[in-house]
Parts: sequence; structure tokens; C-alpha cells
Amino acid sequence: MEAKPIYLNGKWVTGESSIEVNNPATGEIIARVSTVGRDAVRQAIADAQAAFEPWRRLTATQRADYLMAWADAMTQRFDEIARTITLENGKALAQSEGELKLTIDQIRWFAEEGRRAYGRIVPNAVDGLRHLVIKHPVGVVGAIAPWNFPMLLAVRKIAPAMAAGCTVIHKPASATCLSSVPMSECMDAAGVPPGVYQFLMGKASEISTEMLENPDCKKISFTGSTPIGKVLMDGASANVTKLGLELGGNAPFIVFDDADIESAADGLMIAKFRNTGQSCIGANRVYVQAPVYDAFVDAFVARVNKLKIGNGLDEGVDIGAMVDEDGLDHALKHIEDAVGRGARVVAGGNRWGDVGTFLEPTVIADVPQDATCMHDEIFAPVAPIAKFETEAEVLQKANDTPYGLAAYAYTENIHRGLRAAEALEAGSICINAGVPTTSMCPFGGLKESGEGRELGIEGLEAFFEVKHVAIGLKDE
Ligand code: NAP
Repeated sequence: MEAKPIYLNGKWVTGESSIEVNNPATGEIIARVSTVGRDAVRQAIADAQAAFEPWRRLTATQRADYLMAWADAMTQRFDEIARTITLENGKALAQSEGELKLTIDQIRWFAEEGRRAYGRIVPNAVDGLRHLVIKHPVGVVGAIAPWNFPMLLAVRKIAPAMAAGCTVIHKPASATCLSSVPMSECMDAAGVPPGVYQFLMGKASEISTEMLENPDCKKISFTGSTPIGKVLMDGASANVTKLGLELGGNAPFIVFDDADIESAADGLMIAKFRNTGQSCIGANRVYVQAPVYDAFVDAFVARVNKLKIGNGLDEGVDIGAMVDEDGLDHALKHIEDAVGRGARVVAGGNRWGDVGTFLEPTVIADVPQDATCMHDEIFAPVAPIAKFETEAEVLQKANDTPYGLAAYAYTENIHRGLRAAEALEAGSICINAGVPTTSMCPFGGLKESGEGRELGIEGLEAFFEVKHVAIGLKDE
């Protein structure tokens, strides 16, 4: 099978080596994508550095025009790219389409927002001085993305970096690097100058080491696991490379006794099973207050039993294949551990099908707090549920984790909802809703869930340095 090329300095390059991309629903190899070694990464950084000055000197409107043309090209190839996401990742096609819609929205949002990157004029503190605060793009950015939302999470780095005037080297996850080929073709079709955006593949640790050790790479924007985020933090000290880190999560989902049970069950369906449970903001542990515990579990299980599992390309599928065997094994171990500690499987619990990496959507009730799934990120369609008695108790349990990416609470009591929002240690808090994310609001983690924010105006600011300009003013 001929390897797909990568996109370096405005050219399509077939590397000497390549990696396989598999369809997790069938186990078949669907493509090979070219890979390069450290020398090519060094060259890509040099080319990005050469492209930086002319790119940053364009007007924000000119950069916005390029980004809008990129969004238009992605829109034209919408069906093909969505299908590719499903083929490489396993998720249901409707979810790939949802991902791509949001991806394009992010490009448009940052194209527009780049034109509003205002500075400040500050009142003078002493006679004869004027003060300006102006913004300066960070420089060359390495964008390293994960496999769970291969387009969405890459583009929320690439688009704001380019809008701010930075140049970008994009390294997708190995499992899902195929969709980056058409995405980069769209960038090419938009006429973006060579070196402004490059897409490469290779050994992740080699690529990131070059990015960290090369003083021309000024920032790495990374989305992935907390352990790799910590490796990057260690490496960043060499050149004080700036980091944006979107790391792991362990979101609590709280149902208070005054909640609308049907709406809470609907919300948990999205918060848990979107993306086959492989979402960093996915509900990881569910806490339900004692008086409504049985009613909530029944309402939720009734919904879970209606989910359709299968190949993501098939009509009406809700739960596609998980990305790989490791993720599936990890989930099965969590189920086994919880059952070993006295929990009850009330839906699913098993591997599904003869081919592919499928897990039945699973609900485990009466899960004790010491079960591993209450502490580790499950990253699978498995919902562990535990009972709680008081508000203080559940807020303490919810925050008893080194992670702080997302948290959910259902209550009809506005006072309780606001108290929870203020107490929960998470970057995204969802009260009476199952998914918080929009292009227009900041997204990111507290504690070990990360550093910095993506999306919203903060997501653009992340790619600027701020400069204070003091100007001595002569009298006439
Ligand atoms: P991962 O192993 O950390 O991989 C993520 C990316 O990092 C991939 O592109 C991977 O490349 C690359 N990588 C691997 N080793 C590296 C190294 N030494 N230096 C630099 N990059 C390296 O994470 P994952 O298991 O694929 O993704 C799931 C994790 O991501 C979960 O913890 C999830 O919560 C987190 N996540 C967080 C967010 C957020 O916004 N906070 C969003 C989505 C996912 P290869 O694929 O080539 O190894």
C-alpha cells in the first residue's frame, strides 16, 4: 500500500518510512502515512521560522481570509473527512460529523477573533511618558494532538496560532493521522504560504525532543495524557519553551435529590457515551443522592439498553469501536476491579462482536470509592455509579482527585447549583447540561488536567506575548 505524503514547507513529501492506520471496527489496515525523523523536524522548524516574519506582518484580515478559505475547503470535503474520522477512530459517523462541524466553527471563530486582538493604551504615570500594551505572536508552535477528536483538538491549536500570526507544525496521534491528510490538503487549497502550516508524522518522542531542544520552536501546544504532559514540562526547562497543556480528566457527575431525573439521565448519556466514552471531559464517576438513587439508575439503564453498538459507518449506530485493544483491556480491568470490590454490573460489561475493539455500553452500580475507576480515567463507555448522602460529602469526593478538567451537577435548586459551581475544582462546569464546550468559551484544566486555556478569547491569547511599550514624549 502506497504511503500518503505529509505536508512540509508547502510540498507533499513521501517519507522513507511510514506507519499503518487501522480501522478499529474491522482490524483492517486502511492506509499508511509517511513518517520522518528528527532531521526533517529540524528542517520543518527552520522553514516555519522563515515563514514566521512575513506571516505575522500580514494584516489580521489577510490571515482571517486564509483561515476562512481553509474552513470553506473543509466544508466542501465535509462528508469525506467525516468518514475518514470514523474509519480511523471507530466513532459513529454522526459523531464524526458533529466533530467536524465544531472543527469548522472553531476555524471561523478564530479567524474572526484574530481581528479583535486589541492592545491597550494606558494612562501615563509620569509626565512625558506614554504607555502602550501591544501583542506579539509567540513564534513557531508545535501542535501535538490526540486520537479521540483528531480534527477538533488539533484545529483548536492550529487556527488560533495562525490567527495570532504564529506558524505551526502539526503532529497528530499515530492512530488517527489519516484525517490530517485531507485537512492539510484543504490548507494547501486555501493558498496558505509555505511553512506557515506543516503536517508531519514520526516517532512522537523524537519530534517533541527536537521541538523542545530547538530554540526556534517557541511553544508546544499539547493535548494528551498527564504523564506525557509532565515529560514535556521537564523538557521545556531547557529553552523555557512555552507550553499549553490539555491533559487527562476524571469528571464527577452529580445528581442531587432535587434534580429532574429524566433530564439528568439524558445528560449523562451525552456526558458518558459521546465519542464511545473516549472524551477527556467525559463523566468518569457518577454520584447520585440516596433518595433518588434507584430511580436514577433505572432511568439511566433504560436509556443505555437502547444504544446501538456497531461499525460507526452503519446506520443508527451510537457506540462505535474503541480506538484500540489497550483501551478496551483497560476498561475491562476497571469493570473487573469494581465487581471484585462489590459493585454490580447492571448493563453491558463485556466485549462485543468477533472482530474489532467493541465494548458493550456498561453501567456499574454501587461502586465503592476505593474502586480504581473512581480514581483513574476510564476513557471508555463505562459508567460507575455510587450513592451519596450530603452535599458536603459529594463535593469533597468530587474534588478528591488530582484532575480538574470538567464536572457536572444536576439540581433544580439554583442556590445548590451555584454553590456546586463555585466549589467544584474543574475548568468546565456543567449545571443541568451534558456537554459544556463551545468555540466561544475557554476550555482547559485545573490541577493536573493542564496549563492554559484553549477556545474563547483565552485560546487566542495563548499564542501572544504581551509587550509594554513606553514612549518618551517631547514637549513642543
Ligand atoms: P498520549 O499518549 O499522551 O498521546 C497524545 C499525543 O501525544 C499523541 O499525538 C502522541 O503521539 C503524542 N505523544 C506520545 N508520546 C509523546 C512524547 N513523548 N512527547 C510528545 N508527544 C507524545 O494520550 P492518549 O492516550 O493518546 O490520549 C488520551 C489522553 O488525552 C487522555 O488522558 C485524555 O484525557 C487526554 N485528553 C485531554 C484533552 C483535553 O483537552 N484536556 C482532550 C483529549 C484527550 P503518538 O500517537 O504517535 O504516540
